[in-house]
Amino acid sequence: METKYIFVTGGVVSSLGKGIISSSLARLLLSRGYSVTIQKFDPYINIDPGTLNPYEHGECYVTVDGHEADLDLGHYERFTDIQTTRANNVTTGRIYQSVIDKERRGDYLGKTVQIIPHITDEIKRNVKLLGNTGKYDFVITEIGGTVGDIESTPFLEAVRQLKWELGRNALSLHLTYVPYLKAAKELKTKPTQHSVKQLQAIGIQPDILILRTEKDMPVSMRRKVAQFCNVAPEAVIQSLDASTIYKVPQMMHEQHLDDLVIRLTGTAGKGEPNHAAWNQFLHKLDSAQKIVRIGLVGKYVELQDAYKSINESLMQAATYCDHKLDLVYIHSEKLDQKNVEEKLLGLDGVIIAPGFGQRGIEGKFVALKWCREHDLPTFGICLGMQCMVIEYARNVLGLADANSTEMDPNTPYNVIDLMEEQKSVSNLGGTMRLGAYECRLKKGSIPAEAYGEEIVKERHRHRFEFNEEYRKRFEEAGLECVGENPDTGLVEIVQAPALTWFVGTQYHPEYQSTVLHPNPLFVSFVKAAIAEGEKNRH
Ligand code: GLN
Repeated sequence: METKYIFVTGGVVSSLGKGIISSSLARLLLSRGYSVTIQKFDPYINIDPGTLNPYEHGECYVTVDGHEADLDLGHYERFTDIQTTRANNVTTGRIYQSVIDKERRGDYLGKTVQIIPHITDEIKRNVKLLGNTGKYDFVITEIGGTVGDIESTPFLEAVRQLKWELGRNALSLHLTYVPYLKAAKELKTKPTQHSVKQLQAIGIQPDILILRTEKDMPVSMRRKVAQFCNVAPEAVIQSLDASTIYKVPQMMHEQHLDDLVIRLTGTAGKGEPNHAAWNQFLHKLDSAQKIVRIGLVGKYVELQDAYKSINESLMQAATYCDHKLDLVYIHSEKLDQKNVEEKLLGLDGVIIAPGFGQRGIEGKFVALKWCREHDLPTFGICLGMQCMVIEYARNVLGLADANSTEMDPNTPYNVIDLMEEQKSVSNLGGTMRLGAYECRLKKGSIPAEAYGEEIVKERHRHRFEFNEEYRKRFEEAGLECVGENPDTGLVEIVQAPALTWFVGTQYHPEYQSTVLHPNPLFVSFVKAAIAEGEKNRH
C-alpha cells in the first residue's frame, strides 16, 4: 500500500494538544493493524531542544538513538509503543544547517539559495524520509507552532506543495480552539473560522477540523463551522477536555476520526480496532480507589512539563498497581533541615529528579538523608542518583565536601566526575552521553528482580558518572553498584541493600515507559511505596 501522509496543524492558540491528537490518531490506526509513525517539525532555530532550558520548552526527551527531542515524542511513544529516532523530530535549525552544508559543498551549482524552493524542498525531503522506507502505511506529521506564525510559514508551504503532489495520499487535519465566553454563555467559533481562512490563504484546505472545547458543542454549531470552512460536517470533530489524555483516542474513535482518515485517503479497510489492552488500562485508571503518595524533589516543580515523562511513568505504574497517583511536588531550593520532616512525612516514596547545575542541589541532599534515615522508598534518577552517591559519601563515608565536579571542580572527594570521553568536549549541543546503552544487572538486586532480565537497555543524558575509584569504599559502607555497562564498566545503578527500596539509576527509565508497557523499575518502586503506605496507615 502507498504511504499516506497526515499533516496536523494548529490554529488560534498554542498548547491545544496537537501532540495528543496525533498520538491518539496513531493509536487508533495501530489498533486497526496499520503500521504508523509520527514525526514533529519544530519551527525554532535551535538544532534540537537539548540546549533549551525547561522554562523555555519543558522536558527534553531522548530517543533510543540518542537524539534530544521535543517532549511530544514522549507522548508519541507512550501512546503507541513506537520507538522514535532523530528522523522523527526536525527543527528549522536542522533544515537550514543541511541546506547551508549543501551550499558550501557546491551542490546548488551556482544557483541563488532561497526559502522556496531550497528550504521547502529540504523540508519535503525530511517529511518523506520515513515514508520512503516503505515501512509505514501512515506517516503523521505534526507541524509545531500556530498557523500565522512567521516561522512556521515555510513548513506550511511545504505541506501545501506535498498535498498537491500526493493528492489523495495526503490529508490535512487542523486543530483549533472554540472558546466559551462566560458573560455571553456562548461558545464562539469565529476564531476557528479565521484560523481556517488563514490556512486557506496559504493554499491548504483542511480535510478534518478538530475543535478543542471546554463545553459540548451542539451539532448545529459544528454544521455551521463545516459550512464556513468547506469541510464535510462529519469531518468536524470536537475534542472536549478529558479527565485524562489517555481517553482522547476513544473520544476520537467515537466520532469516527479513524474511519474518516481511512475513507478520505482511500485506504483499504482492516476491520474494527482492537482496544482491549488500552481499555483495560483506562478501566484500572477509573476504578482505582486507593492512593499512593509520591514526592518529587526537583527545582522545576512549578513547571507542568519539566518532568513530564517521570509524571507519566509514575501514573502508569500506579495505575497498573490499582492505585491513584497523588504526586506531591517538593521544591528542592526550599527544602532544608528545618522543614524536611514537615515536607516529607506522610509520603509513601520519594523521587529525586534529574537536572543540571548547583541550584537546588543542597535540598536534594537534605531530602536524601531524611529518606535514607527513615528507610522511605527512594528513587534517584540521573542527577538524583548522583546526589544519592554524594549524600552517602558525605554522611556515611564521612567524606565532608564530597561532590560532583559539575558542582565543585575543586572538591576533595570527586565521587561523581566528568566522564573521560567528555573531557575534550567543548560544544554543548548534542554532546552528552545520549541514548540507549546496555546495563548488566546484579543477580538478586531490586532492578534484576524488577526487570526479570540480566541485561537491559535504557536511555541516557549525562556528562558525569560515578567515580570508579570510590566503588570499593561505597560497597563496604552499604551502597552497592548493582548495574553497570557491560562494555565500559560505567556504574549505571546504585542500591542500598539494607534499605527497603533505595535505588538510583544513571539512566532515565522514564523515557521508556508506555501505557501498554510501564517501565518495570517504576512499577517496582511504586509497589514498594504502596507497601510503605499500607504499613504506615495501619
Ligand atoms: N548533570 C548531570 C550530568 O550531566 C546529570 C544529568 C541529568 O540528570 N540528566 O551528568
